[in-house]
Amino acid sequence: MKKKIKSKKITTKPLKRESKNAHETPSKVDVSIEAGAGAKGKRAFSLIRGMHDILPREERYWKSFFHRAEQLADYFQFGRLETPLLEEASLFVRSLGRGTDVVEKEMYIFEDRDGTRVALRPEATASAVRAYIMHGLWNTPQPVKFWYYGPMFRHDRPQAGRFREFFQLGFETIGALDPAVDAELLLVAYTMYHDLGLPIELRINSIGTKPERERYSNELTNYYRSKRSYLCEHCRMRLTKNPLRLLDCKEEQCQPVKETAPQIIDWLEESSKSYFMKVLEYLDELSIPYLLDPYLVRGLDSYTHTVFELYPVGGTAGAQSELGGGGRYDGLIEEMGGKTTPAAGFALGMERSVSYLKQRVEEGALVLPEVGHHIFFAQLGEEARRRSLKVINELRKSGIRIAFNFFKNSLKSQLELAHNLKVPFVLILGQKEVQDTTVIIRDMESGVQEIVDQKKIESVLKKKLGLSA
Ligand code: AMP
Repeated sequence: MKKKIKSKKITTKPLKRESKNAHETPSKVDVSIEAGAGAKGKRAFSLIRGMHDILPREERYWKSFFHRAEQLADYFQFGRLETPLLEEASLFVRSLGRGTDVVEKEMYIFEDRDGTRVALRPEATASAVRAYIMHGLWNTPQPVKFWYYGPMFRHDRPQAGRFREFFQLGFETIGALDPAVDAELLLVAYTMYHDLGLPIELRINSIGTKPERERYSNELTNYYRSKRSYLCEHCRMRLTKNPLRLLDCKEEQCQPVKETAPQIIDWLEESSKSYFMKVLEYLDELSIPYLLDPYLVRGLDSYTHTVFELYPVGGTAGAQSELGGGGRYDGLIEEMGGKTTPAAGFALGMERSVSYLKQRVEEGALVLPEVGHHIFFAQLGEEARRRSLKVINELRKSGIRIAFNFFKNSLKSQLELAHNLKVPFVLILGQKEVQDTTVIIRDMESGVQEIVDQKKIESVLKKKLGLSA
């Protein structure tokens, strides 16, 4: 027997929090704030500063990168790694190092309800390394190759190209020290843009091993100390906290000091120089153009040997135009409690990459391939509409892409839509066709219409569209 469904009264009052949920810690959250009750639940919400929505109209740009990453990962055998957005705060403090801007100023850190200090991830390499150690992946054939895609959080000052929540797409190879690894990563990063028709400037340098970098860092500190009075306020602080970051300064007044600063390449041992030369030879072999940048250091403590950054061609070297960067981080796995394990990787910023792609499309410099529709499906009348979704779904399974709009009722308006979409054929299903189990196929160019049995639509359409049966 059918049960009679009672219609529930729909309330517009803000929902009160469930308090008897056994899994939850008793909440001290003020529910009136949560539900916006102060304004009777009618307040129009806006975004938190530095956050942004990605609307469906932007999807084709985002998808361009995501799909390419998927294909490249598949081809070069990088496995997708998903890690939580929330991790122990100390994970990032350890991996990024104290004295870095991200740790000192930009981390979203808070105390969880059980008192644990947690952080919204500011980047994903630390999580990848945690996963590698925690799941014993060092016990599996090396190297382990990951790729990831997802949001990162940094409480930086928002401006064009800089958000507090932004997406990164990254590749990491853990467990091998070989110039081929660096070259493969560089190839993947470069191809991501190159295959989309986006010209890229690749800047590259070597910062050697930790002891080499430490010796260089001392030399750099001595040099900058002697020029202290010419430096900006920020650089004076960097002198004691993170001297390598002095070379990243974009302030006008610090540029002349940087121009005559010692270069790290002069502090590298032969073995490090030779490693770097081999990476460059790979790039030459791959015909990937690069720019040697002796002052590119990427100030994170964990970086070693190869470091690189990607810029749009014609962009300035300012922080906001940098599309992505990466390098080798041979010391990090040990630093995070694992065995001594070499590793390398890179991360690309999606917002900036999408904005570069959009700019090129808007300038007419490139065209994104459109995934169009094969046919339009027009329905007339209540019964036909009810049947339509079933027919459309059957055709979906056969790979025919169909456009339709159930909210237009007249044939005229539906044919107009079909015309705008430039589809060659329209399927028309009316009351009569529903009864006869037929459908009309209209040729949009000649206006000729033919009646086809519903069972035969797929084969007739495939023939007309030149699709394989
Ligand atoms: P990083 O992890 O700092 O090496 O950054 C890698 C890439 O992520 C950069 O080159 C940017 O494209 C992007 N990125 C970093 N921070 C931000 C941010 N706050 N907003 C937008 N993109 C960012």
